[in-house]
Amino acid sequence: MARILILGAGFGGLELATVLSDRLGEAAEVTVIDKGEAFVFGYSKLDLMFRARSVEEVRLPYADFVKPGVRLLRETITAIDPEAKRVTTDAGEHEADYLVIALGADYDLAATPGFAEVDSEFYSVAGAEKLAGVIPSFSSGRALIGVCGAPFKCPPAPSECALLLDDELRRRGVRDACEIAFVIPFGTPVPPSPETSAALVGEFEQRGIELIAGRRIASLDPGRGVAVLDDGSEQRYELFLGVPKHRAPDVVIESGITEDGYVPVDTATLTAKVPGVYAIGDCATAGVPKAGVFAEGAARIVAQHLVAAVAGGEDPDRHLGQGTCYIEFGEGRIGSVDIDFLSGPDKTGVFNPPSPEQMALKEKFGTDRRARWFGR
Ligand SMILES: Cc1cc2nc3c(=O)[nH]c(=O)nc-3n(C[C@H](O)[C@H](O)[C@H](O)COP(=O)(O)OP(=O)(O)OC[C@H]3O[C@@H](n4cnc5c(N)ncnc54)[C@H](O)[C@@H]3O)c2cc1C
Repeated sequence: MARILILGAGFGGLELATVLSDRLGEAAEVTVIDKGEAFVFGYSKLDLMFRARSVEEVRLPYADFVKPGVRLLRETITAIDPEAKRVTTDAGEHEADYLVIALGADYDLAATPGFAEVDSEFYSVAGAEKLAGVIPSFSSGRALIGVCGAPFKCPPAPSECALLLDDELRRRGVRDACEIAFVIPFGTPVPPSPETSAALVGEFEQRGIELIAGRRIASLDPGRGVAVLDDGSEQRYELFLGVPKHRAPDVVIESGITEDGYVPVDTATLTAKVPGVYAIGDCATAGVPKAGVFAEGAARIVAQHLVAAVAGGEDPDRHLGQGTCYIEFGEGRIGSVDIDFLSGPDKTGVFNPPSPEQMALKEKFGTDRRARWFGR
């Protein structure tokens, strides 16, 4: 029986294991390995910070991920040998015929001097939970939302953070005593979609949020309360909300199959340099943004390859890099952007303005996946 080893039970790994279970059932031996106890949607971090949700409310325990033909092991991966398709964990060794690396992106705090000391990022569950306790006491001064480098997960998320912070400060009646500034490395908030970017910039202007585009946070000086940008200019802050520099986890880099911090793959097939090894989601350079919806799309293509290899049948489709990203515009409004990066000659992003329909679709995005992966 073919042995398929999926490293990581995030958006990519969960979707891949689910499709393989649906298509192959007990006809393959599928093992998923993750060091965590539970899955948390990326956007739930904003719910922790701005909607007083608890970690308990947003976590989806892996114990509830039960699929025929799939074992989910809670182990920490310590070494990957792509050539041998052998993986070492804190509990032992696993060998496979097919290896899929879906370990996401890690945060490289040390890449930005002063960042770890300030300890104020909102891209991890622990960071968002910590900031949920800090934001309510911010009532005057300058809030700086800052991105330390591209690529980073969910490009609209820092814009959403700025708008939700503005909501929160207005709700508490302290907005006039506060400034909000926002530093991103891109020229616009959502580069593939000029319409989406224009809508966000319009919101920032209306709400008095200062956008500093085309710059990244190069270092932080907590002693002086300033962030130094990559052009040497300085931004003062009383509250810093940061997006750390990203890269594939160390264990992936140490396996020798990364370039510039990520696993290069054939964008059409998601295969890595080594035959029988695939990489999907945030740990890969697959020609798409780093977001859950793209990790899932890649997972479905790899599933087709694995089903064809194990059971024969139809030829796999080409990975088209399409997906919808929902965007919080504040005041309970939700819009979205339909991204298409690989199907045609140009990257496109079609904007769907905020509406009750978009809000319902985002809700459905979460409930569909909760039901499909965790039976909840
Ligand atoms: C604030 C915020 C908002 C976001 N909003 C959205 C959104 O609205 N829509 C959207 O599509 N995306 C959104 N994202 C992005 C999304 O969360 C990620 O892009 C997505 O999770 C990537 O999926 P993945 O499968 O590649 O990796 P992940 O989901 O990160 O999964 C990787 C898994 O690998 C495991 N792992 C890592 N190292 C090891 C190891 N050594 N041993 C064992 N296990 C390991 C981790 O525990 C993790 O479970 C958001 C992200 C953030 C931070």
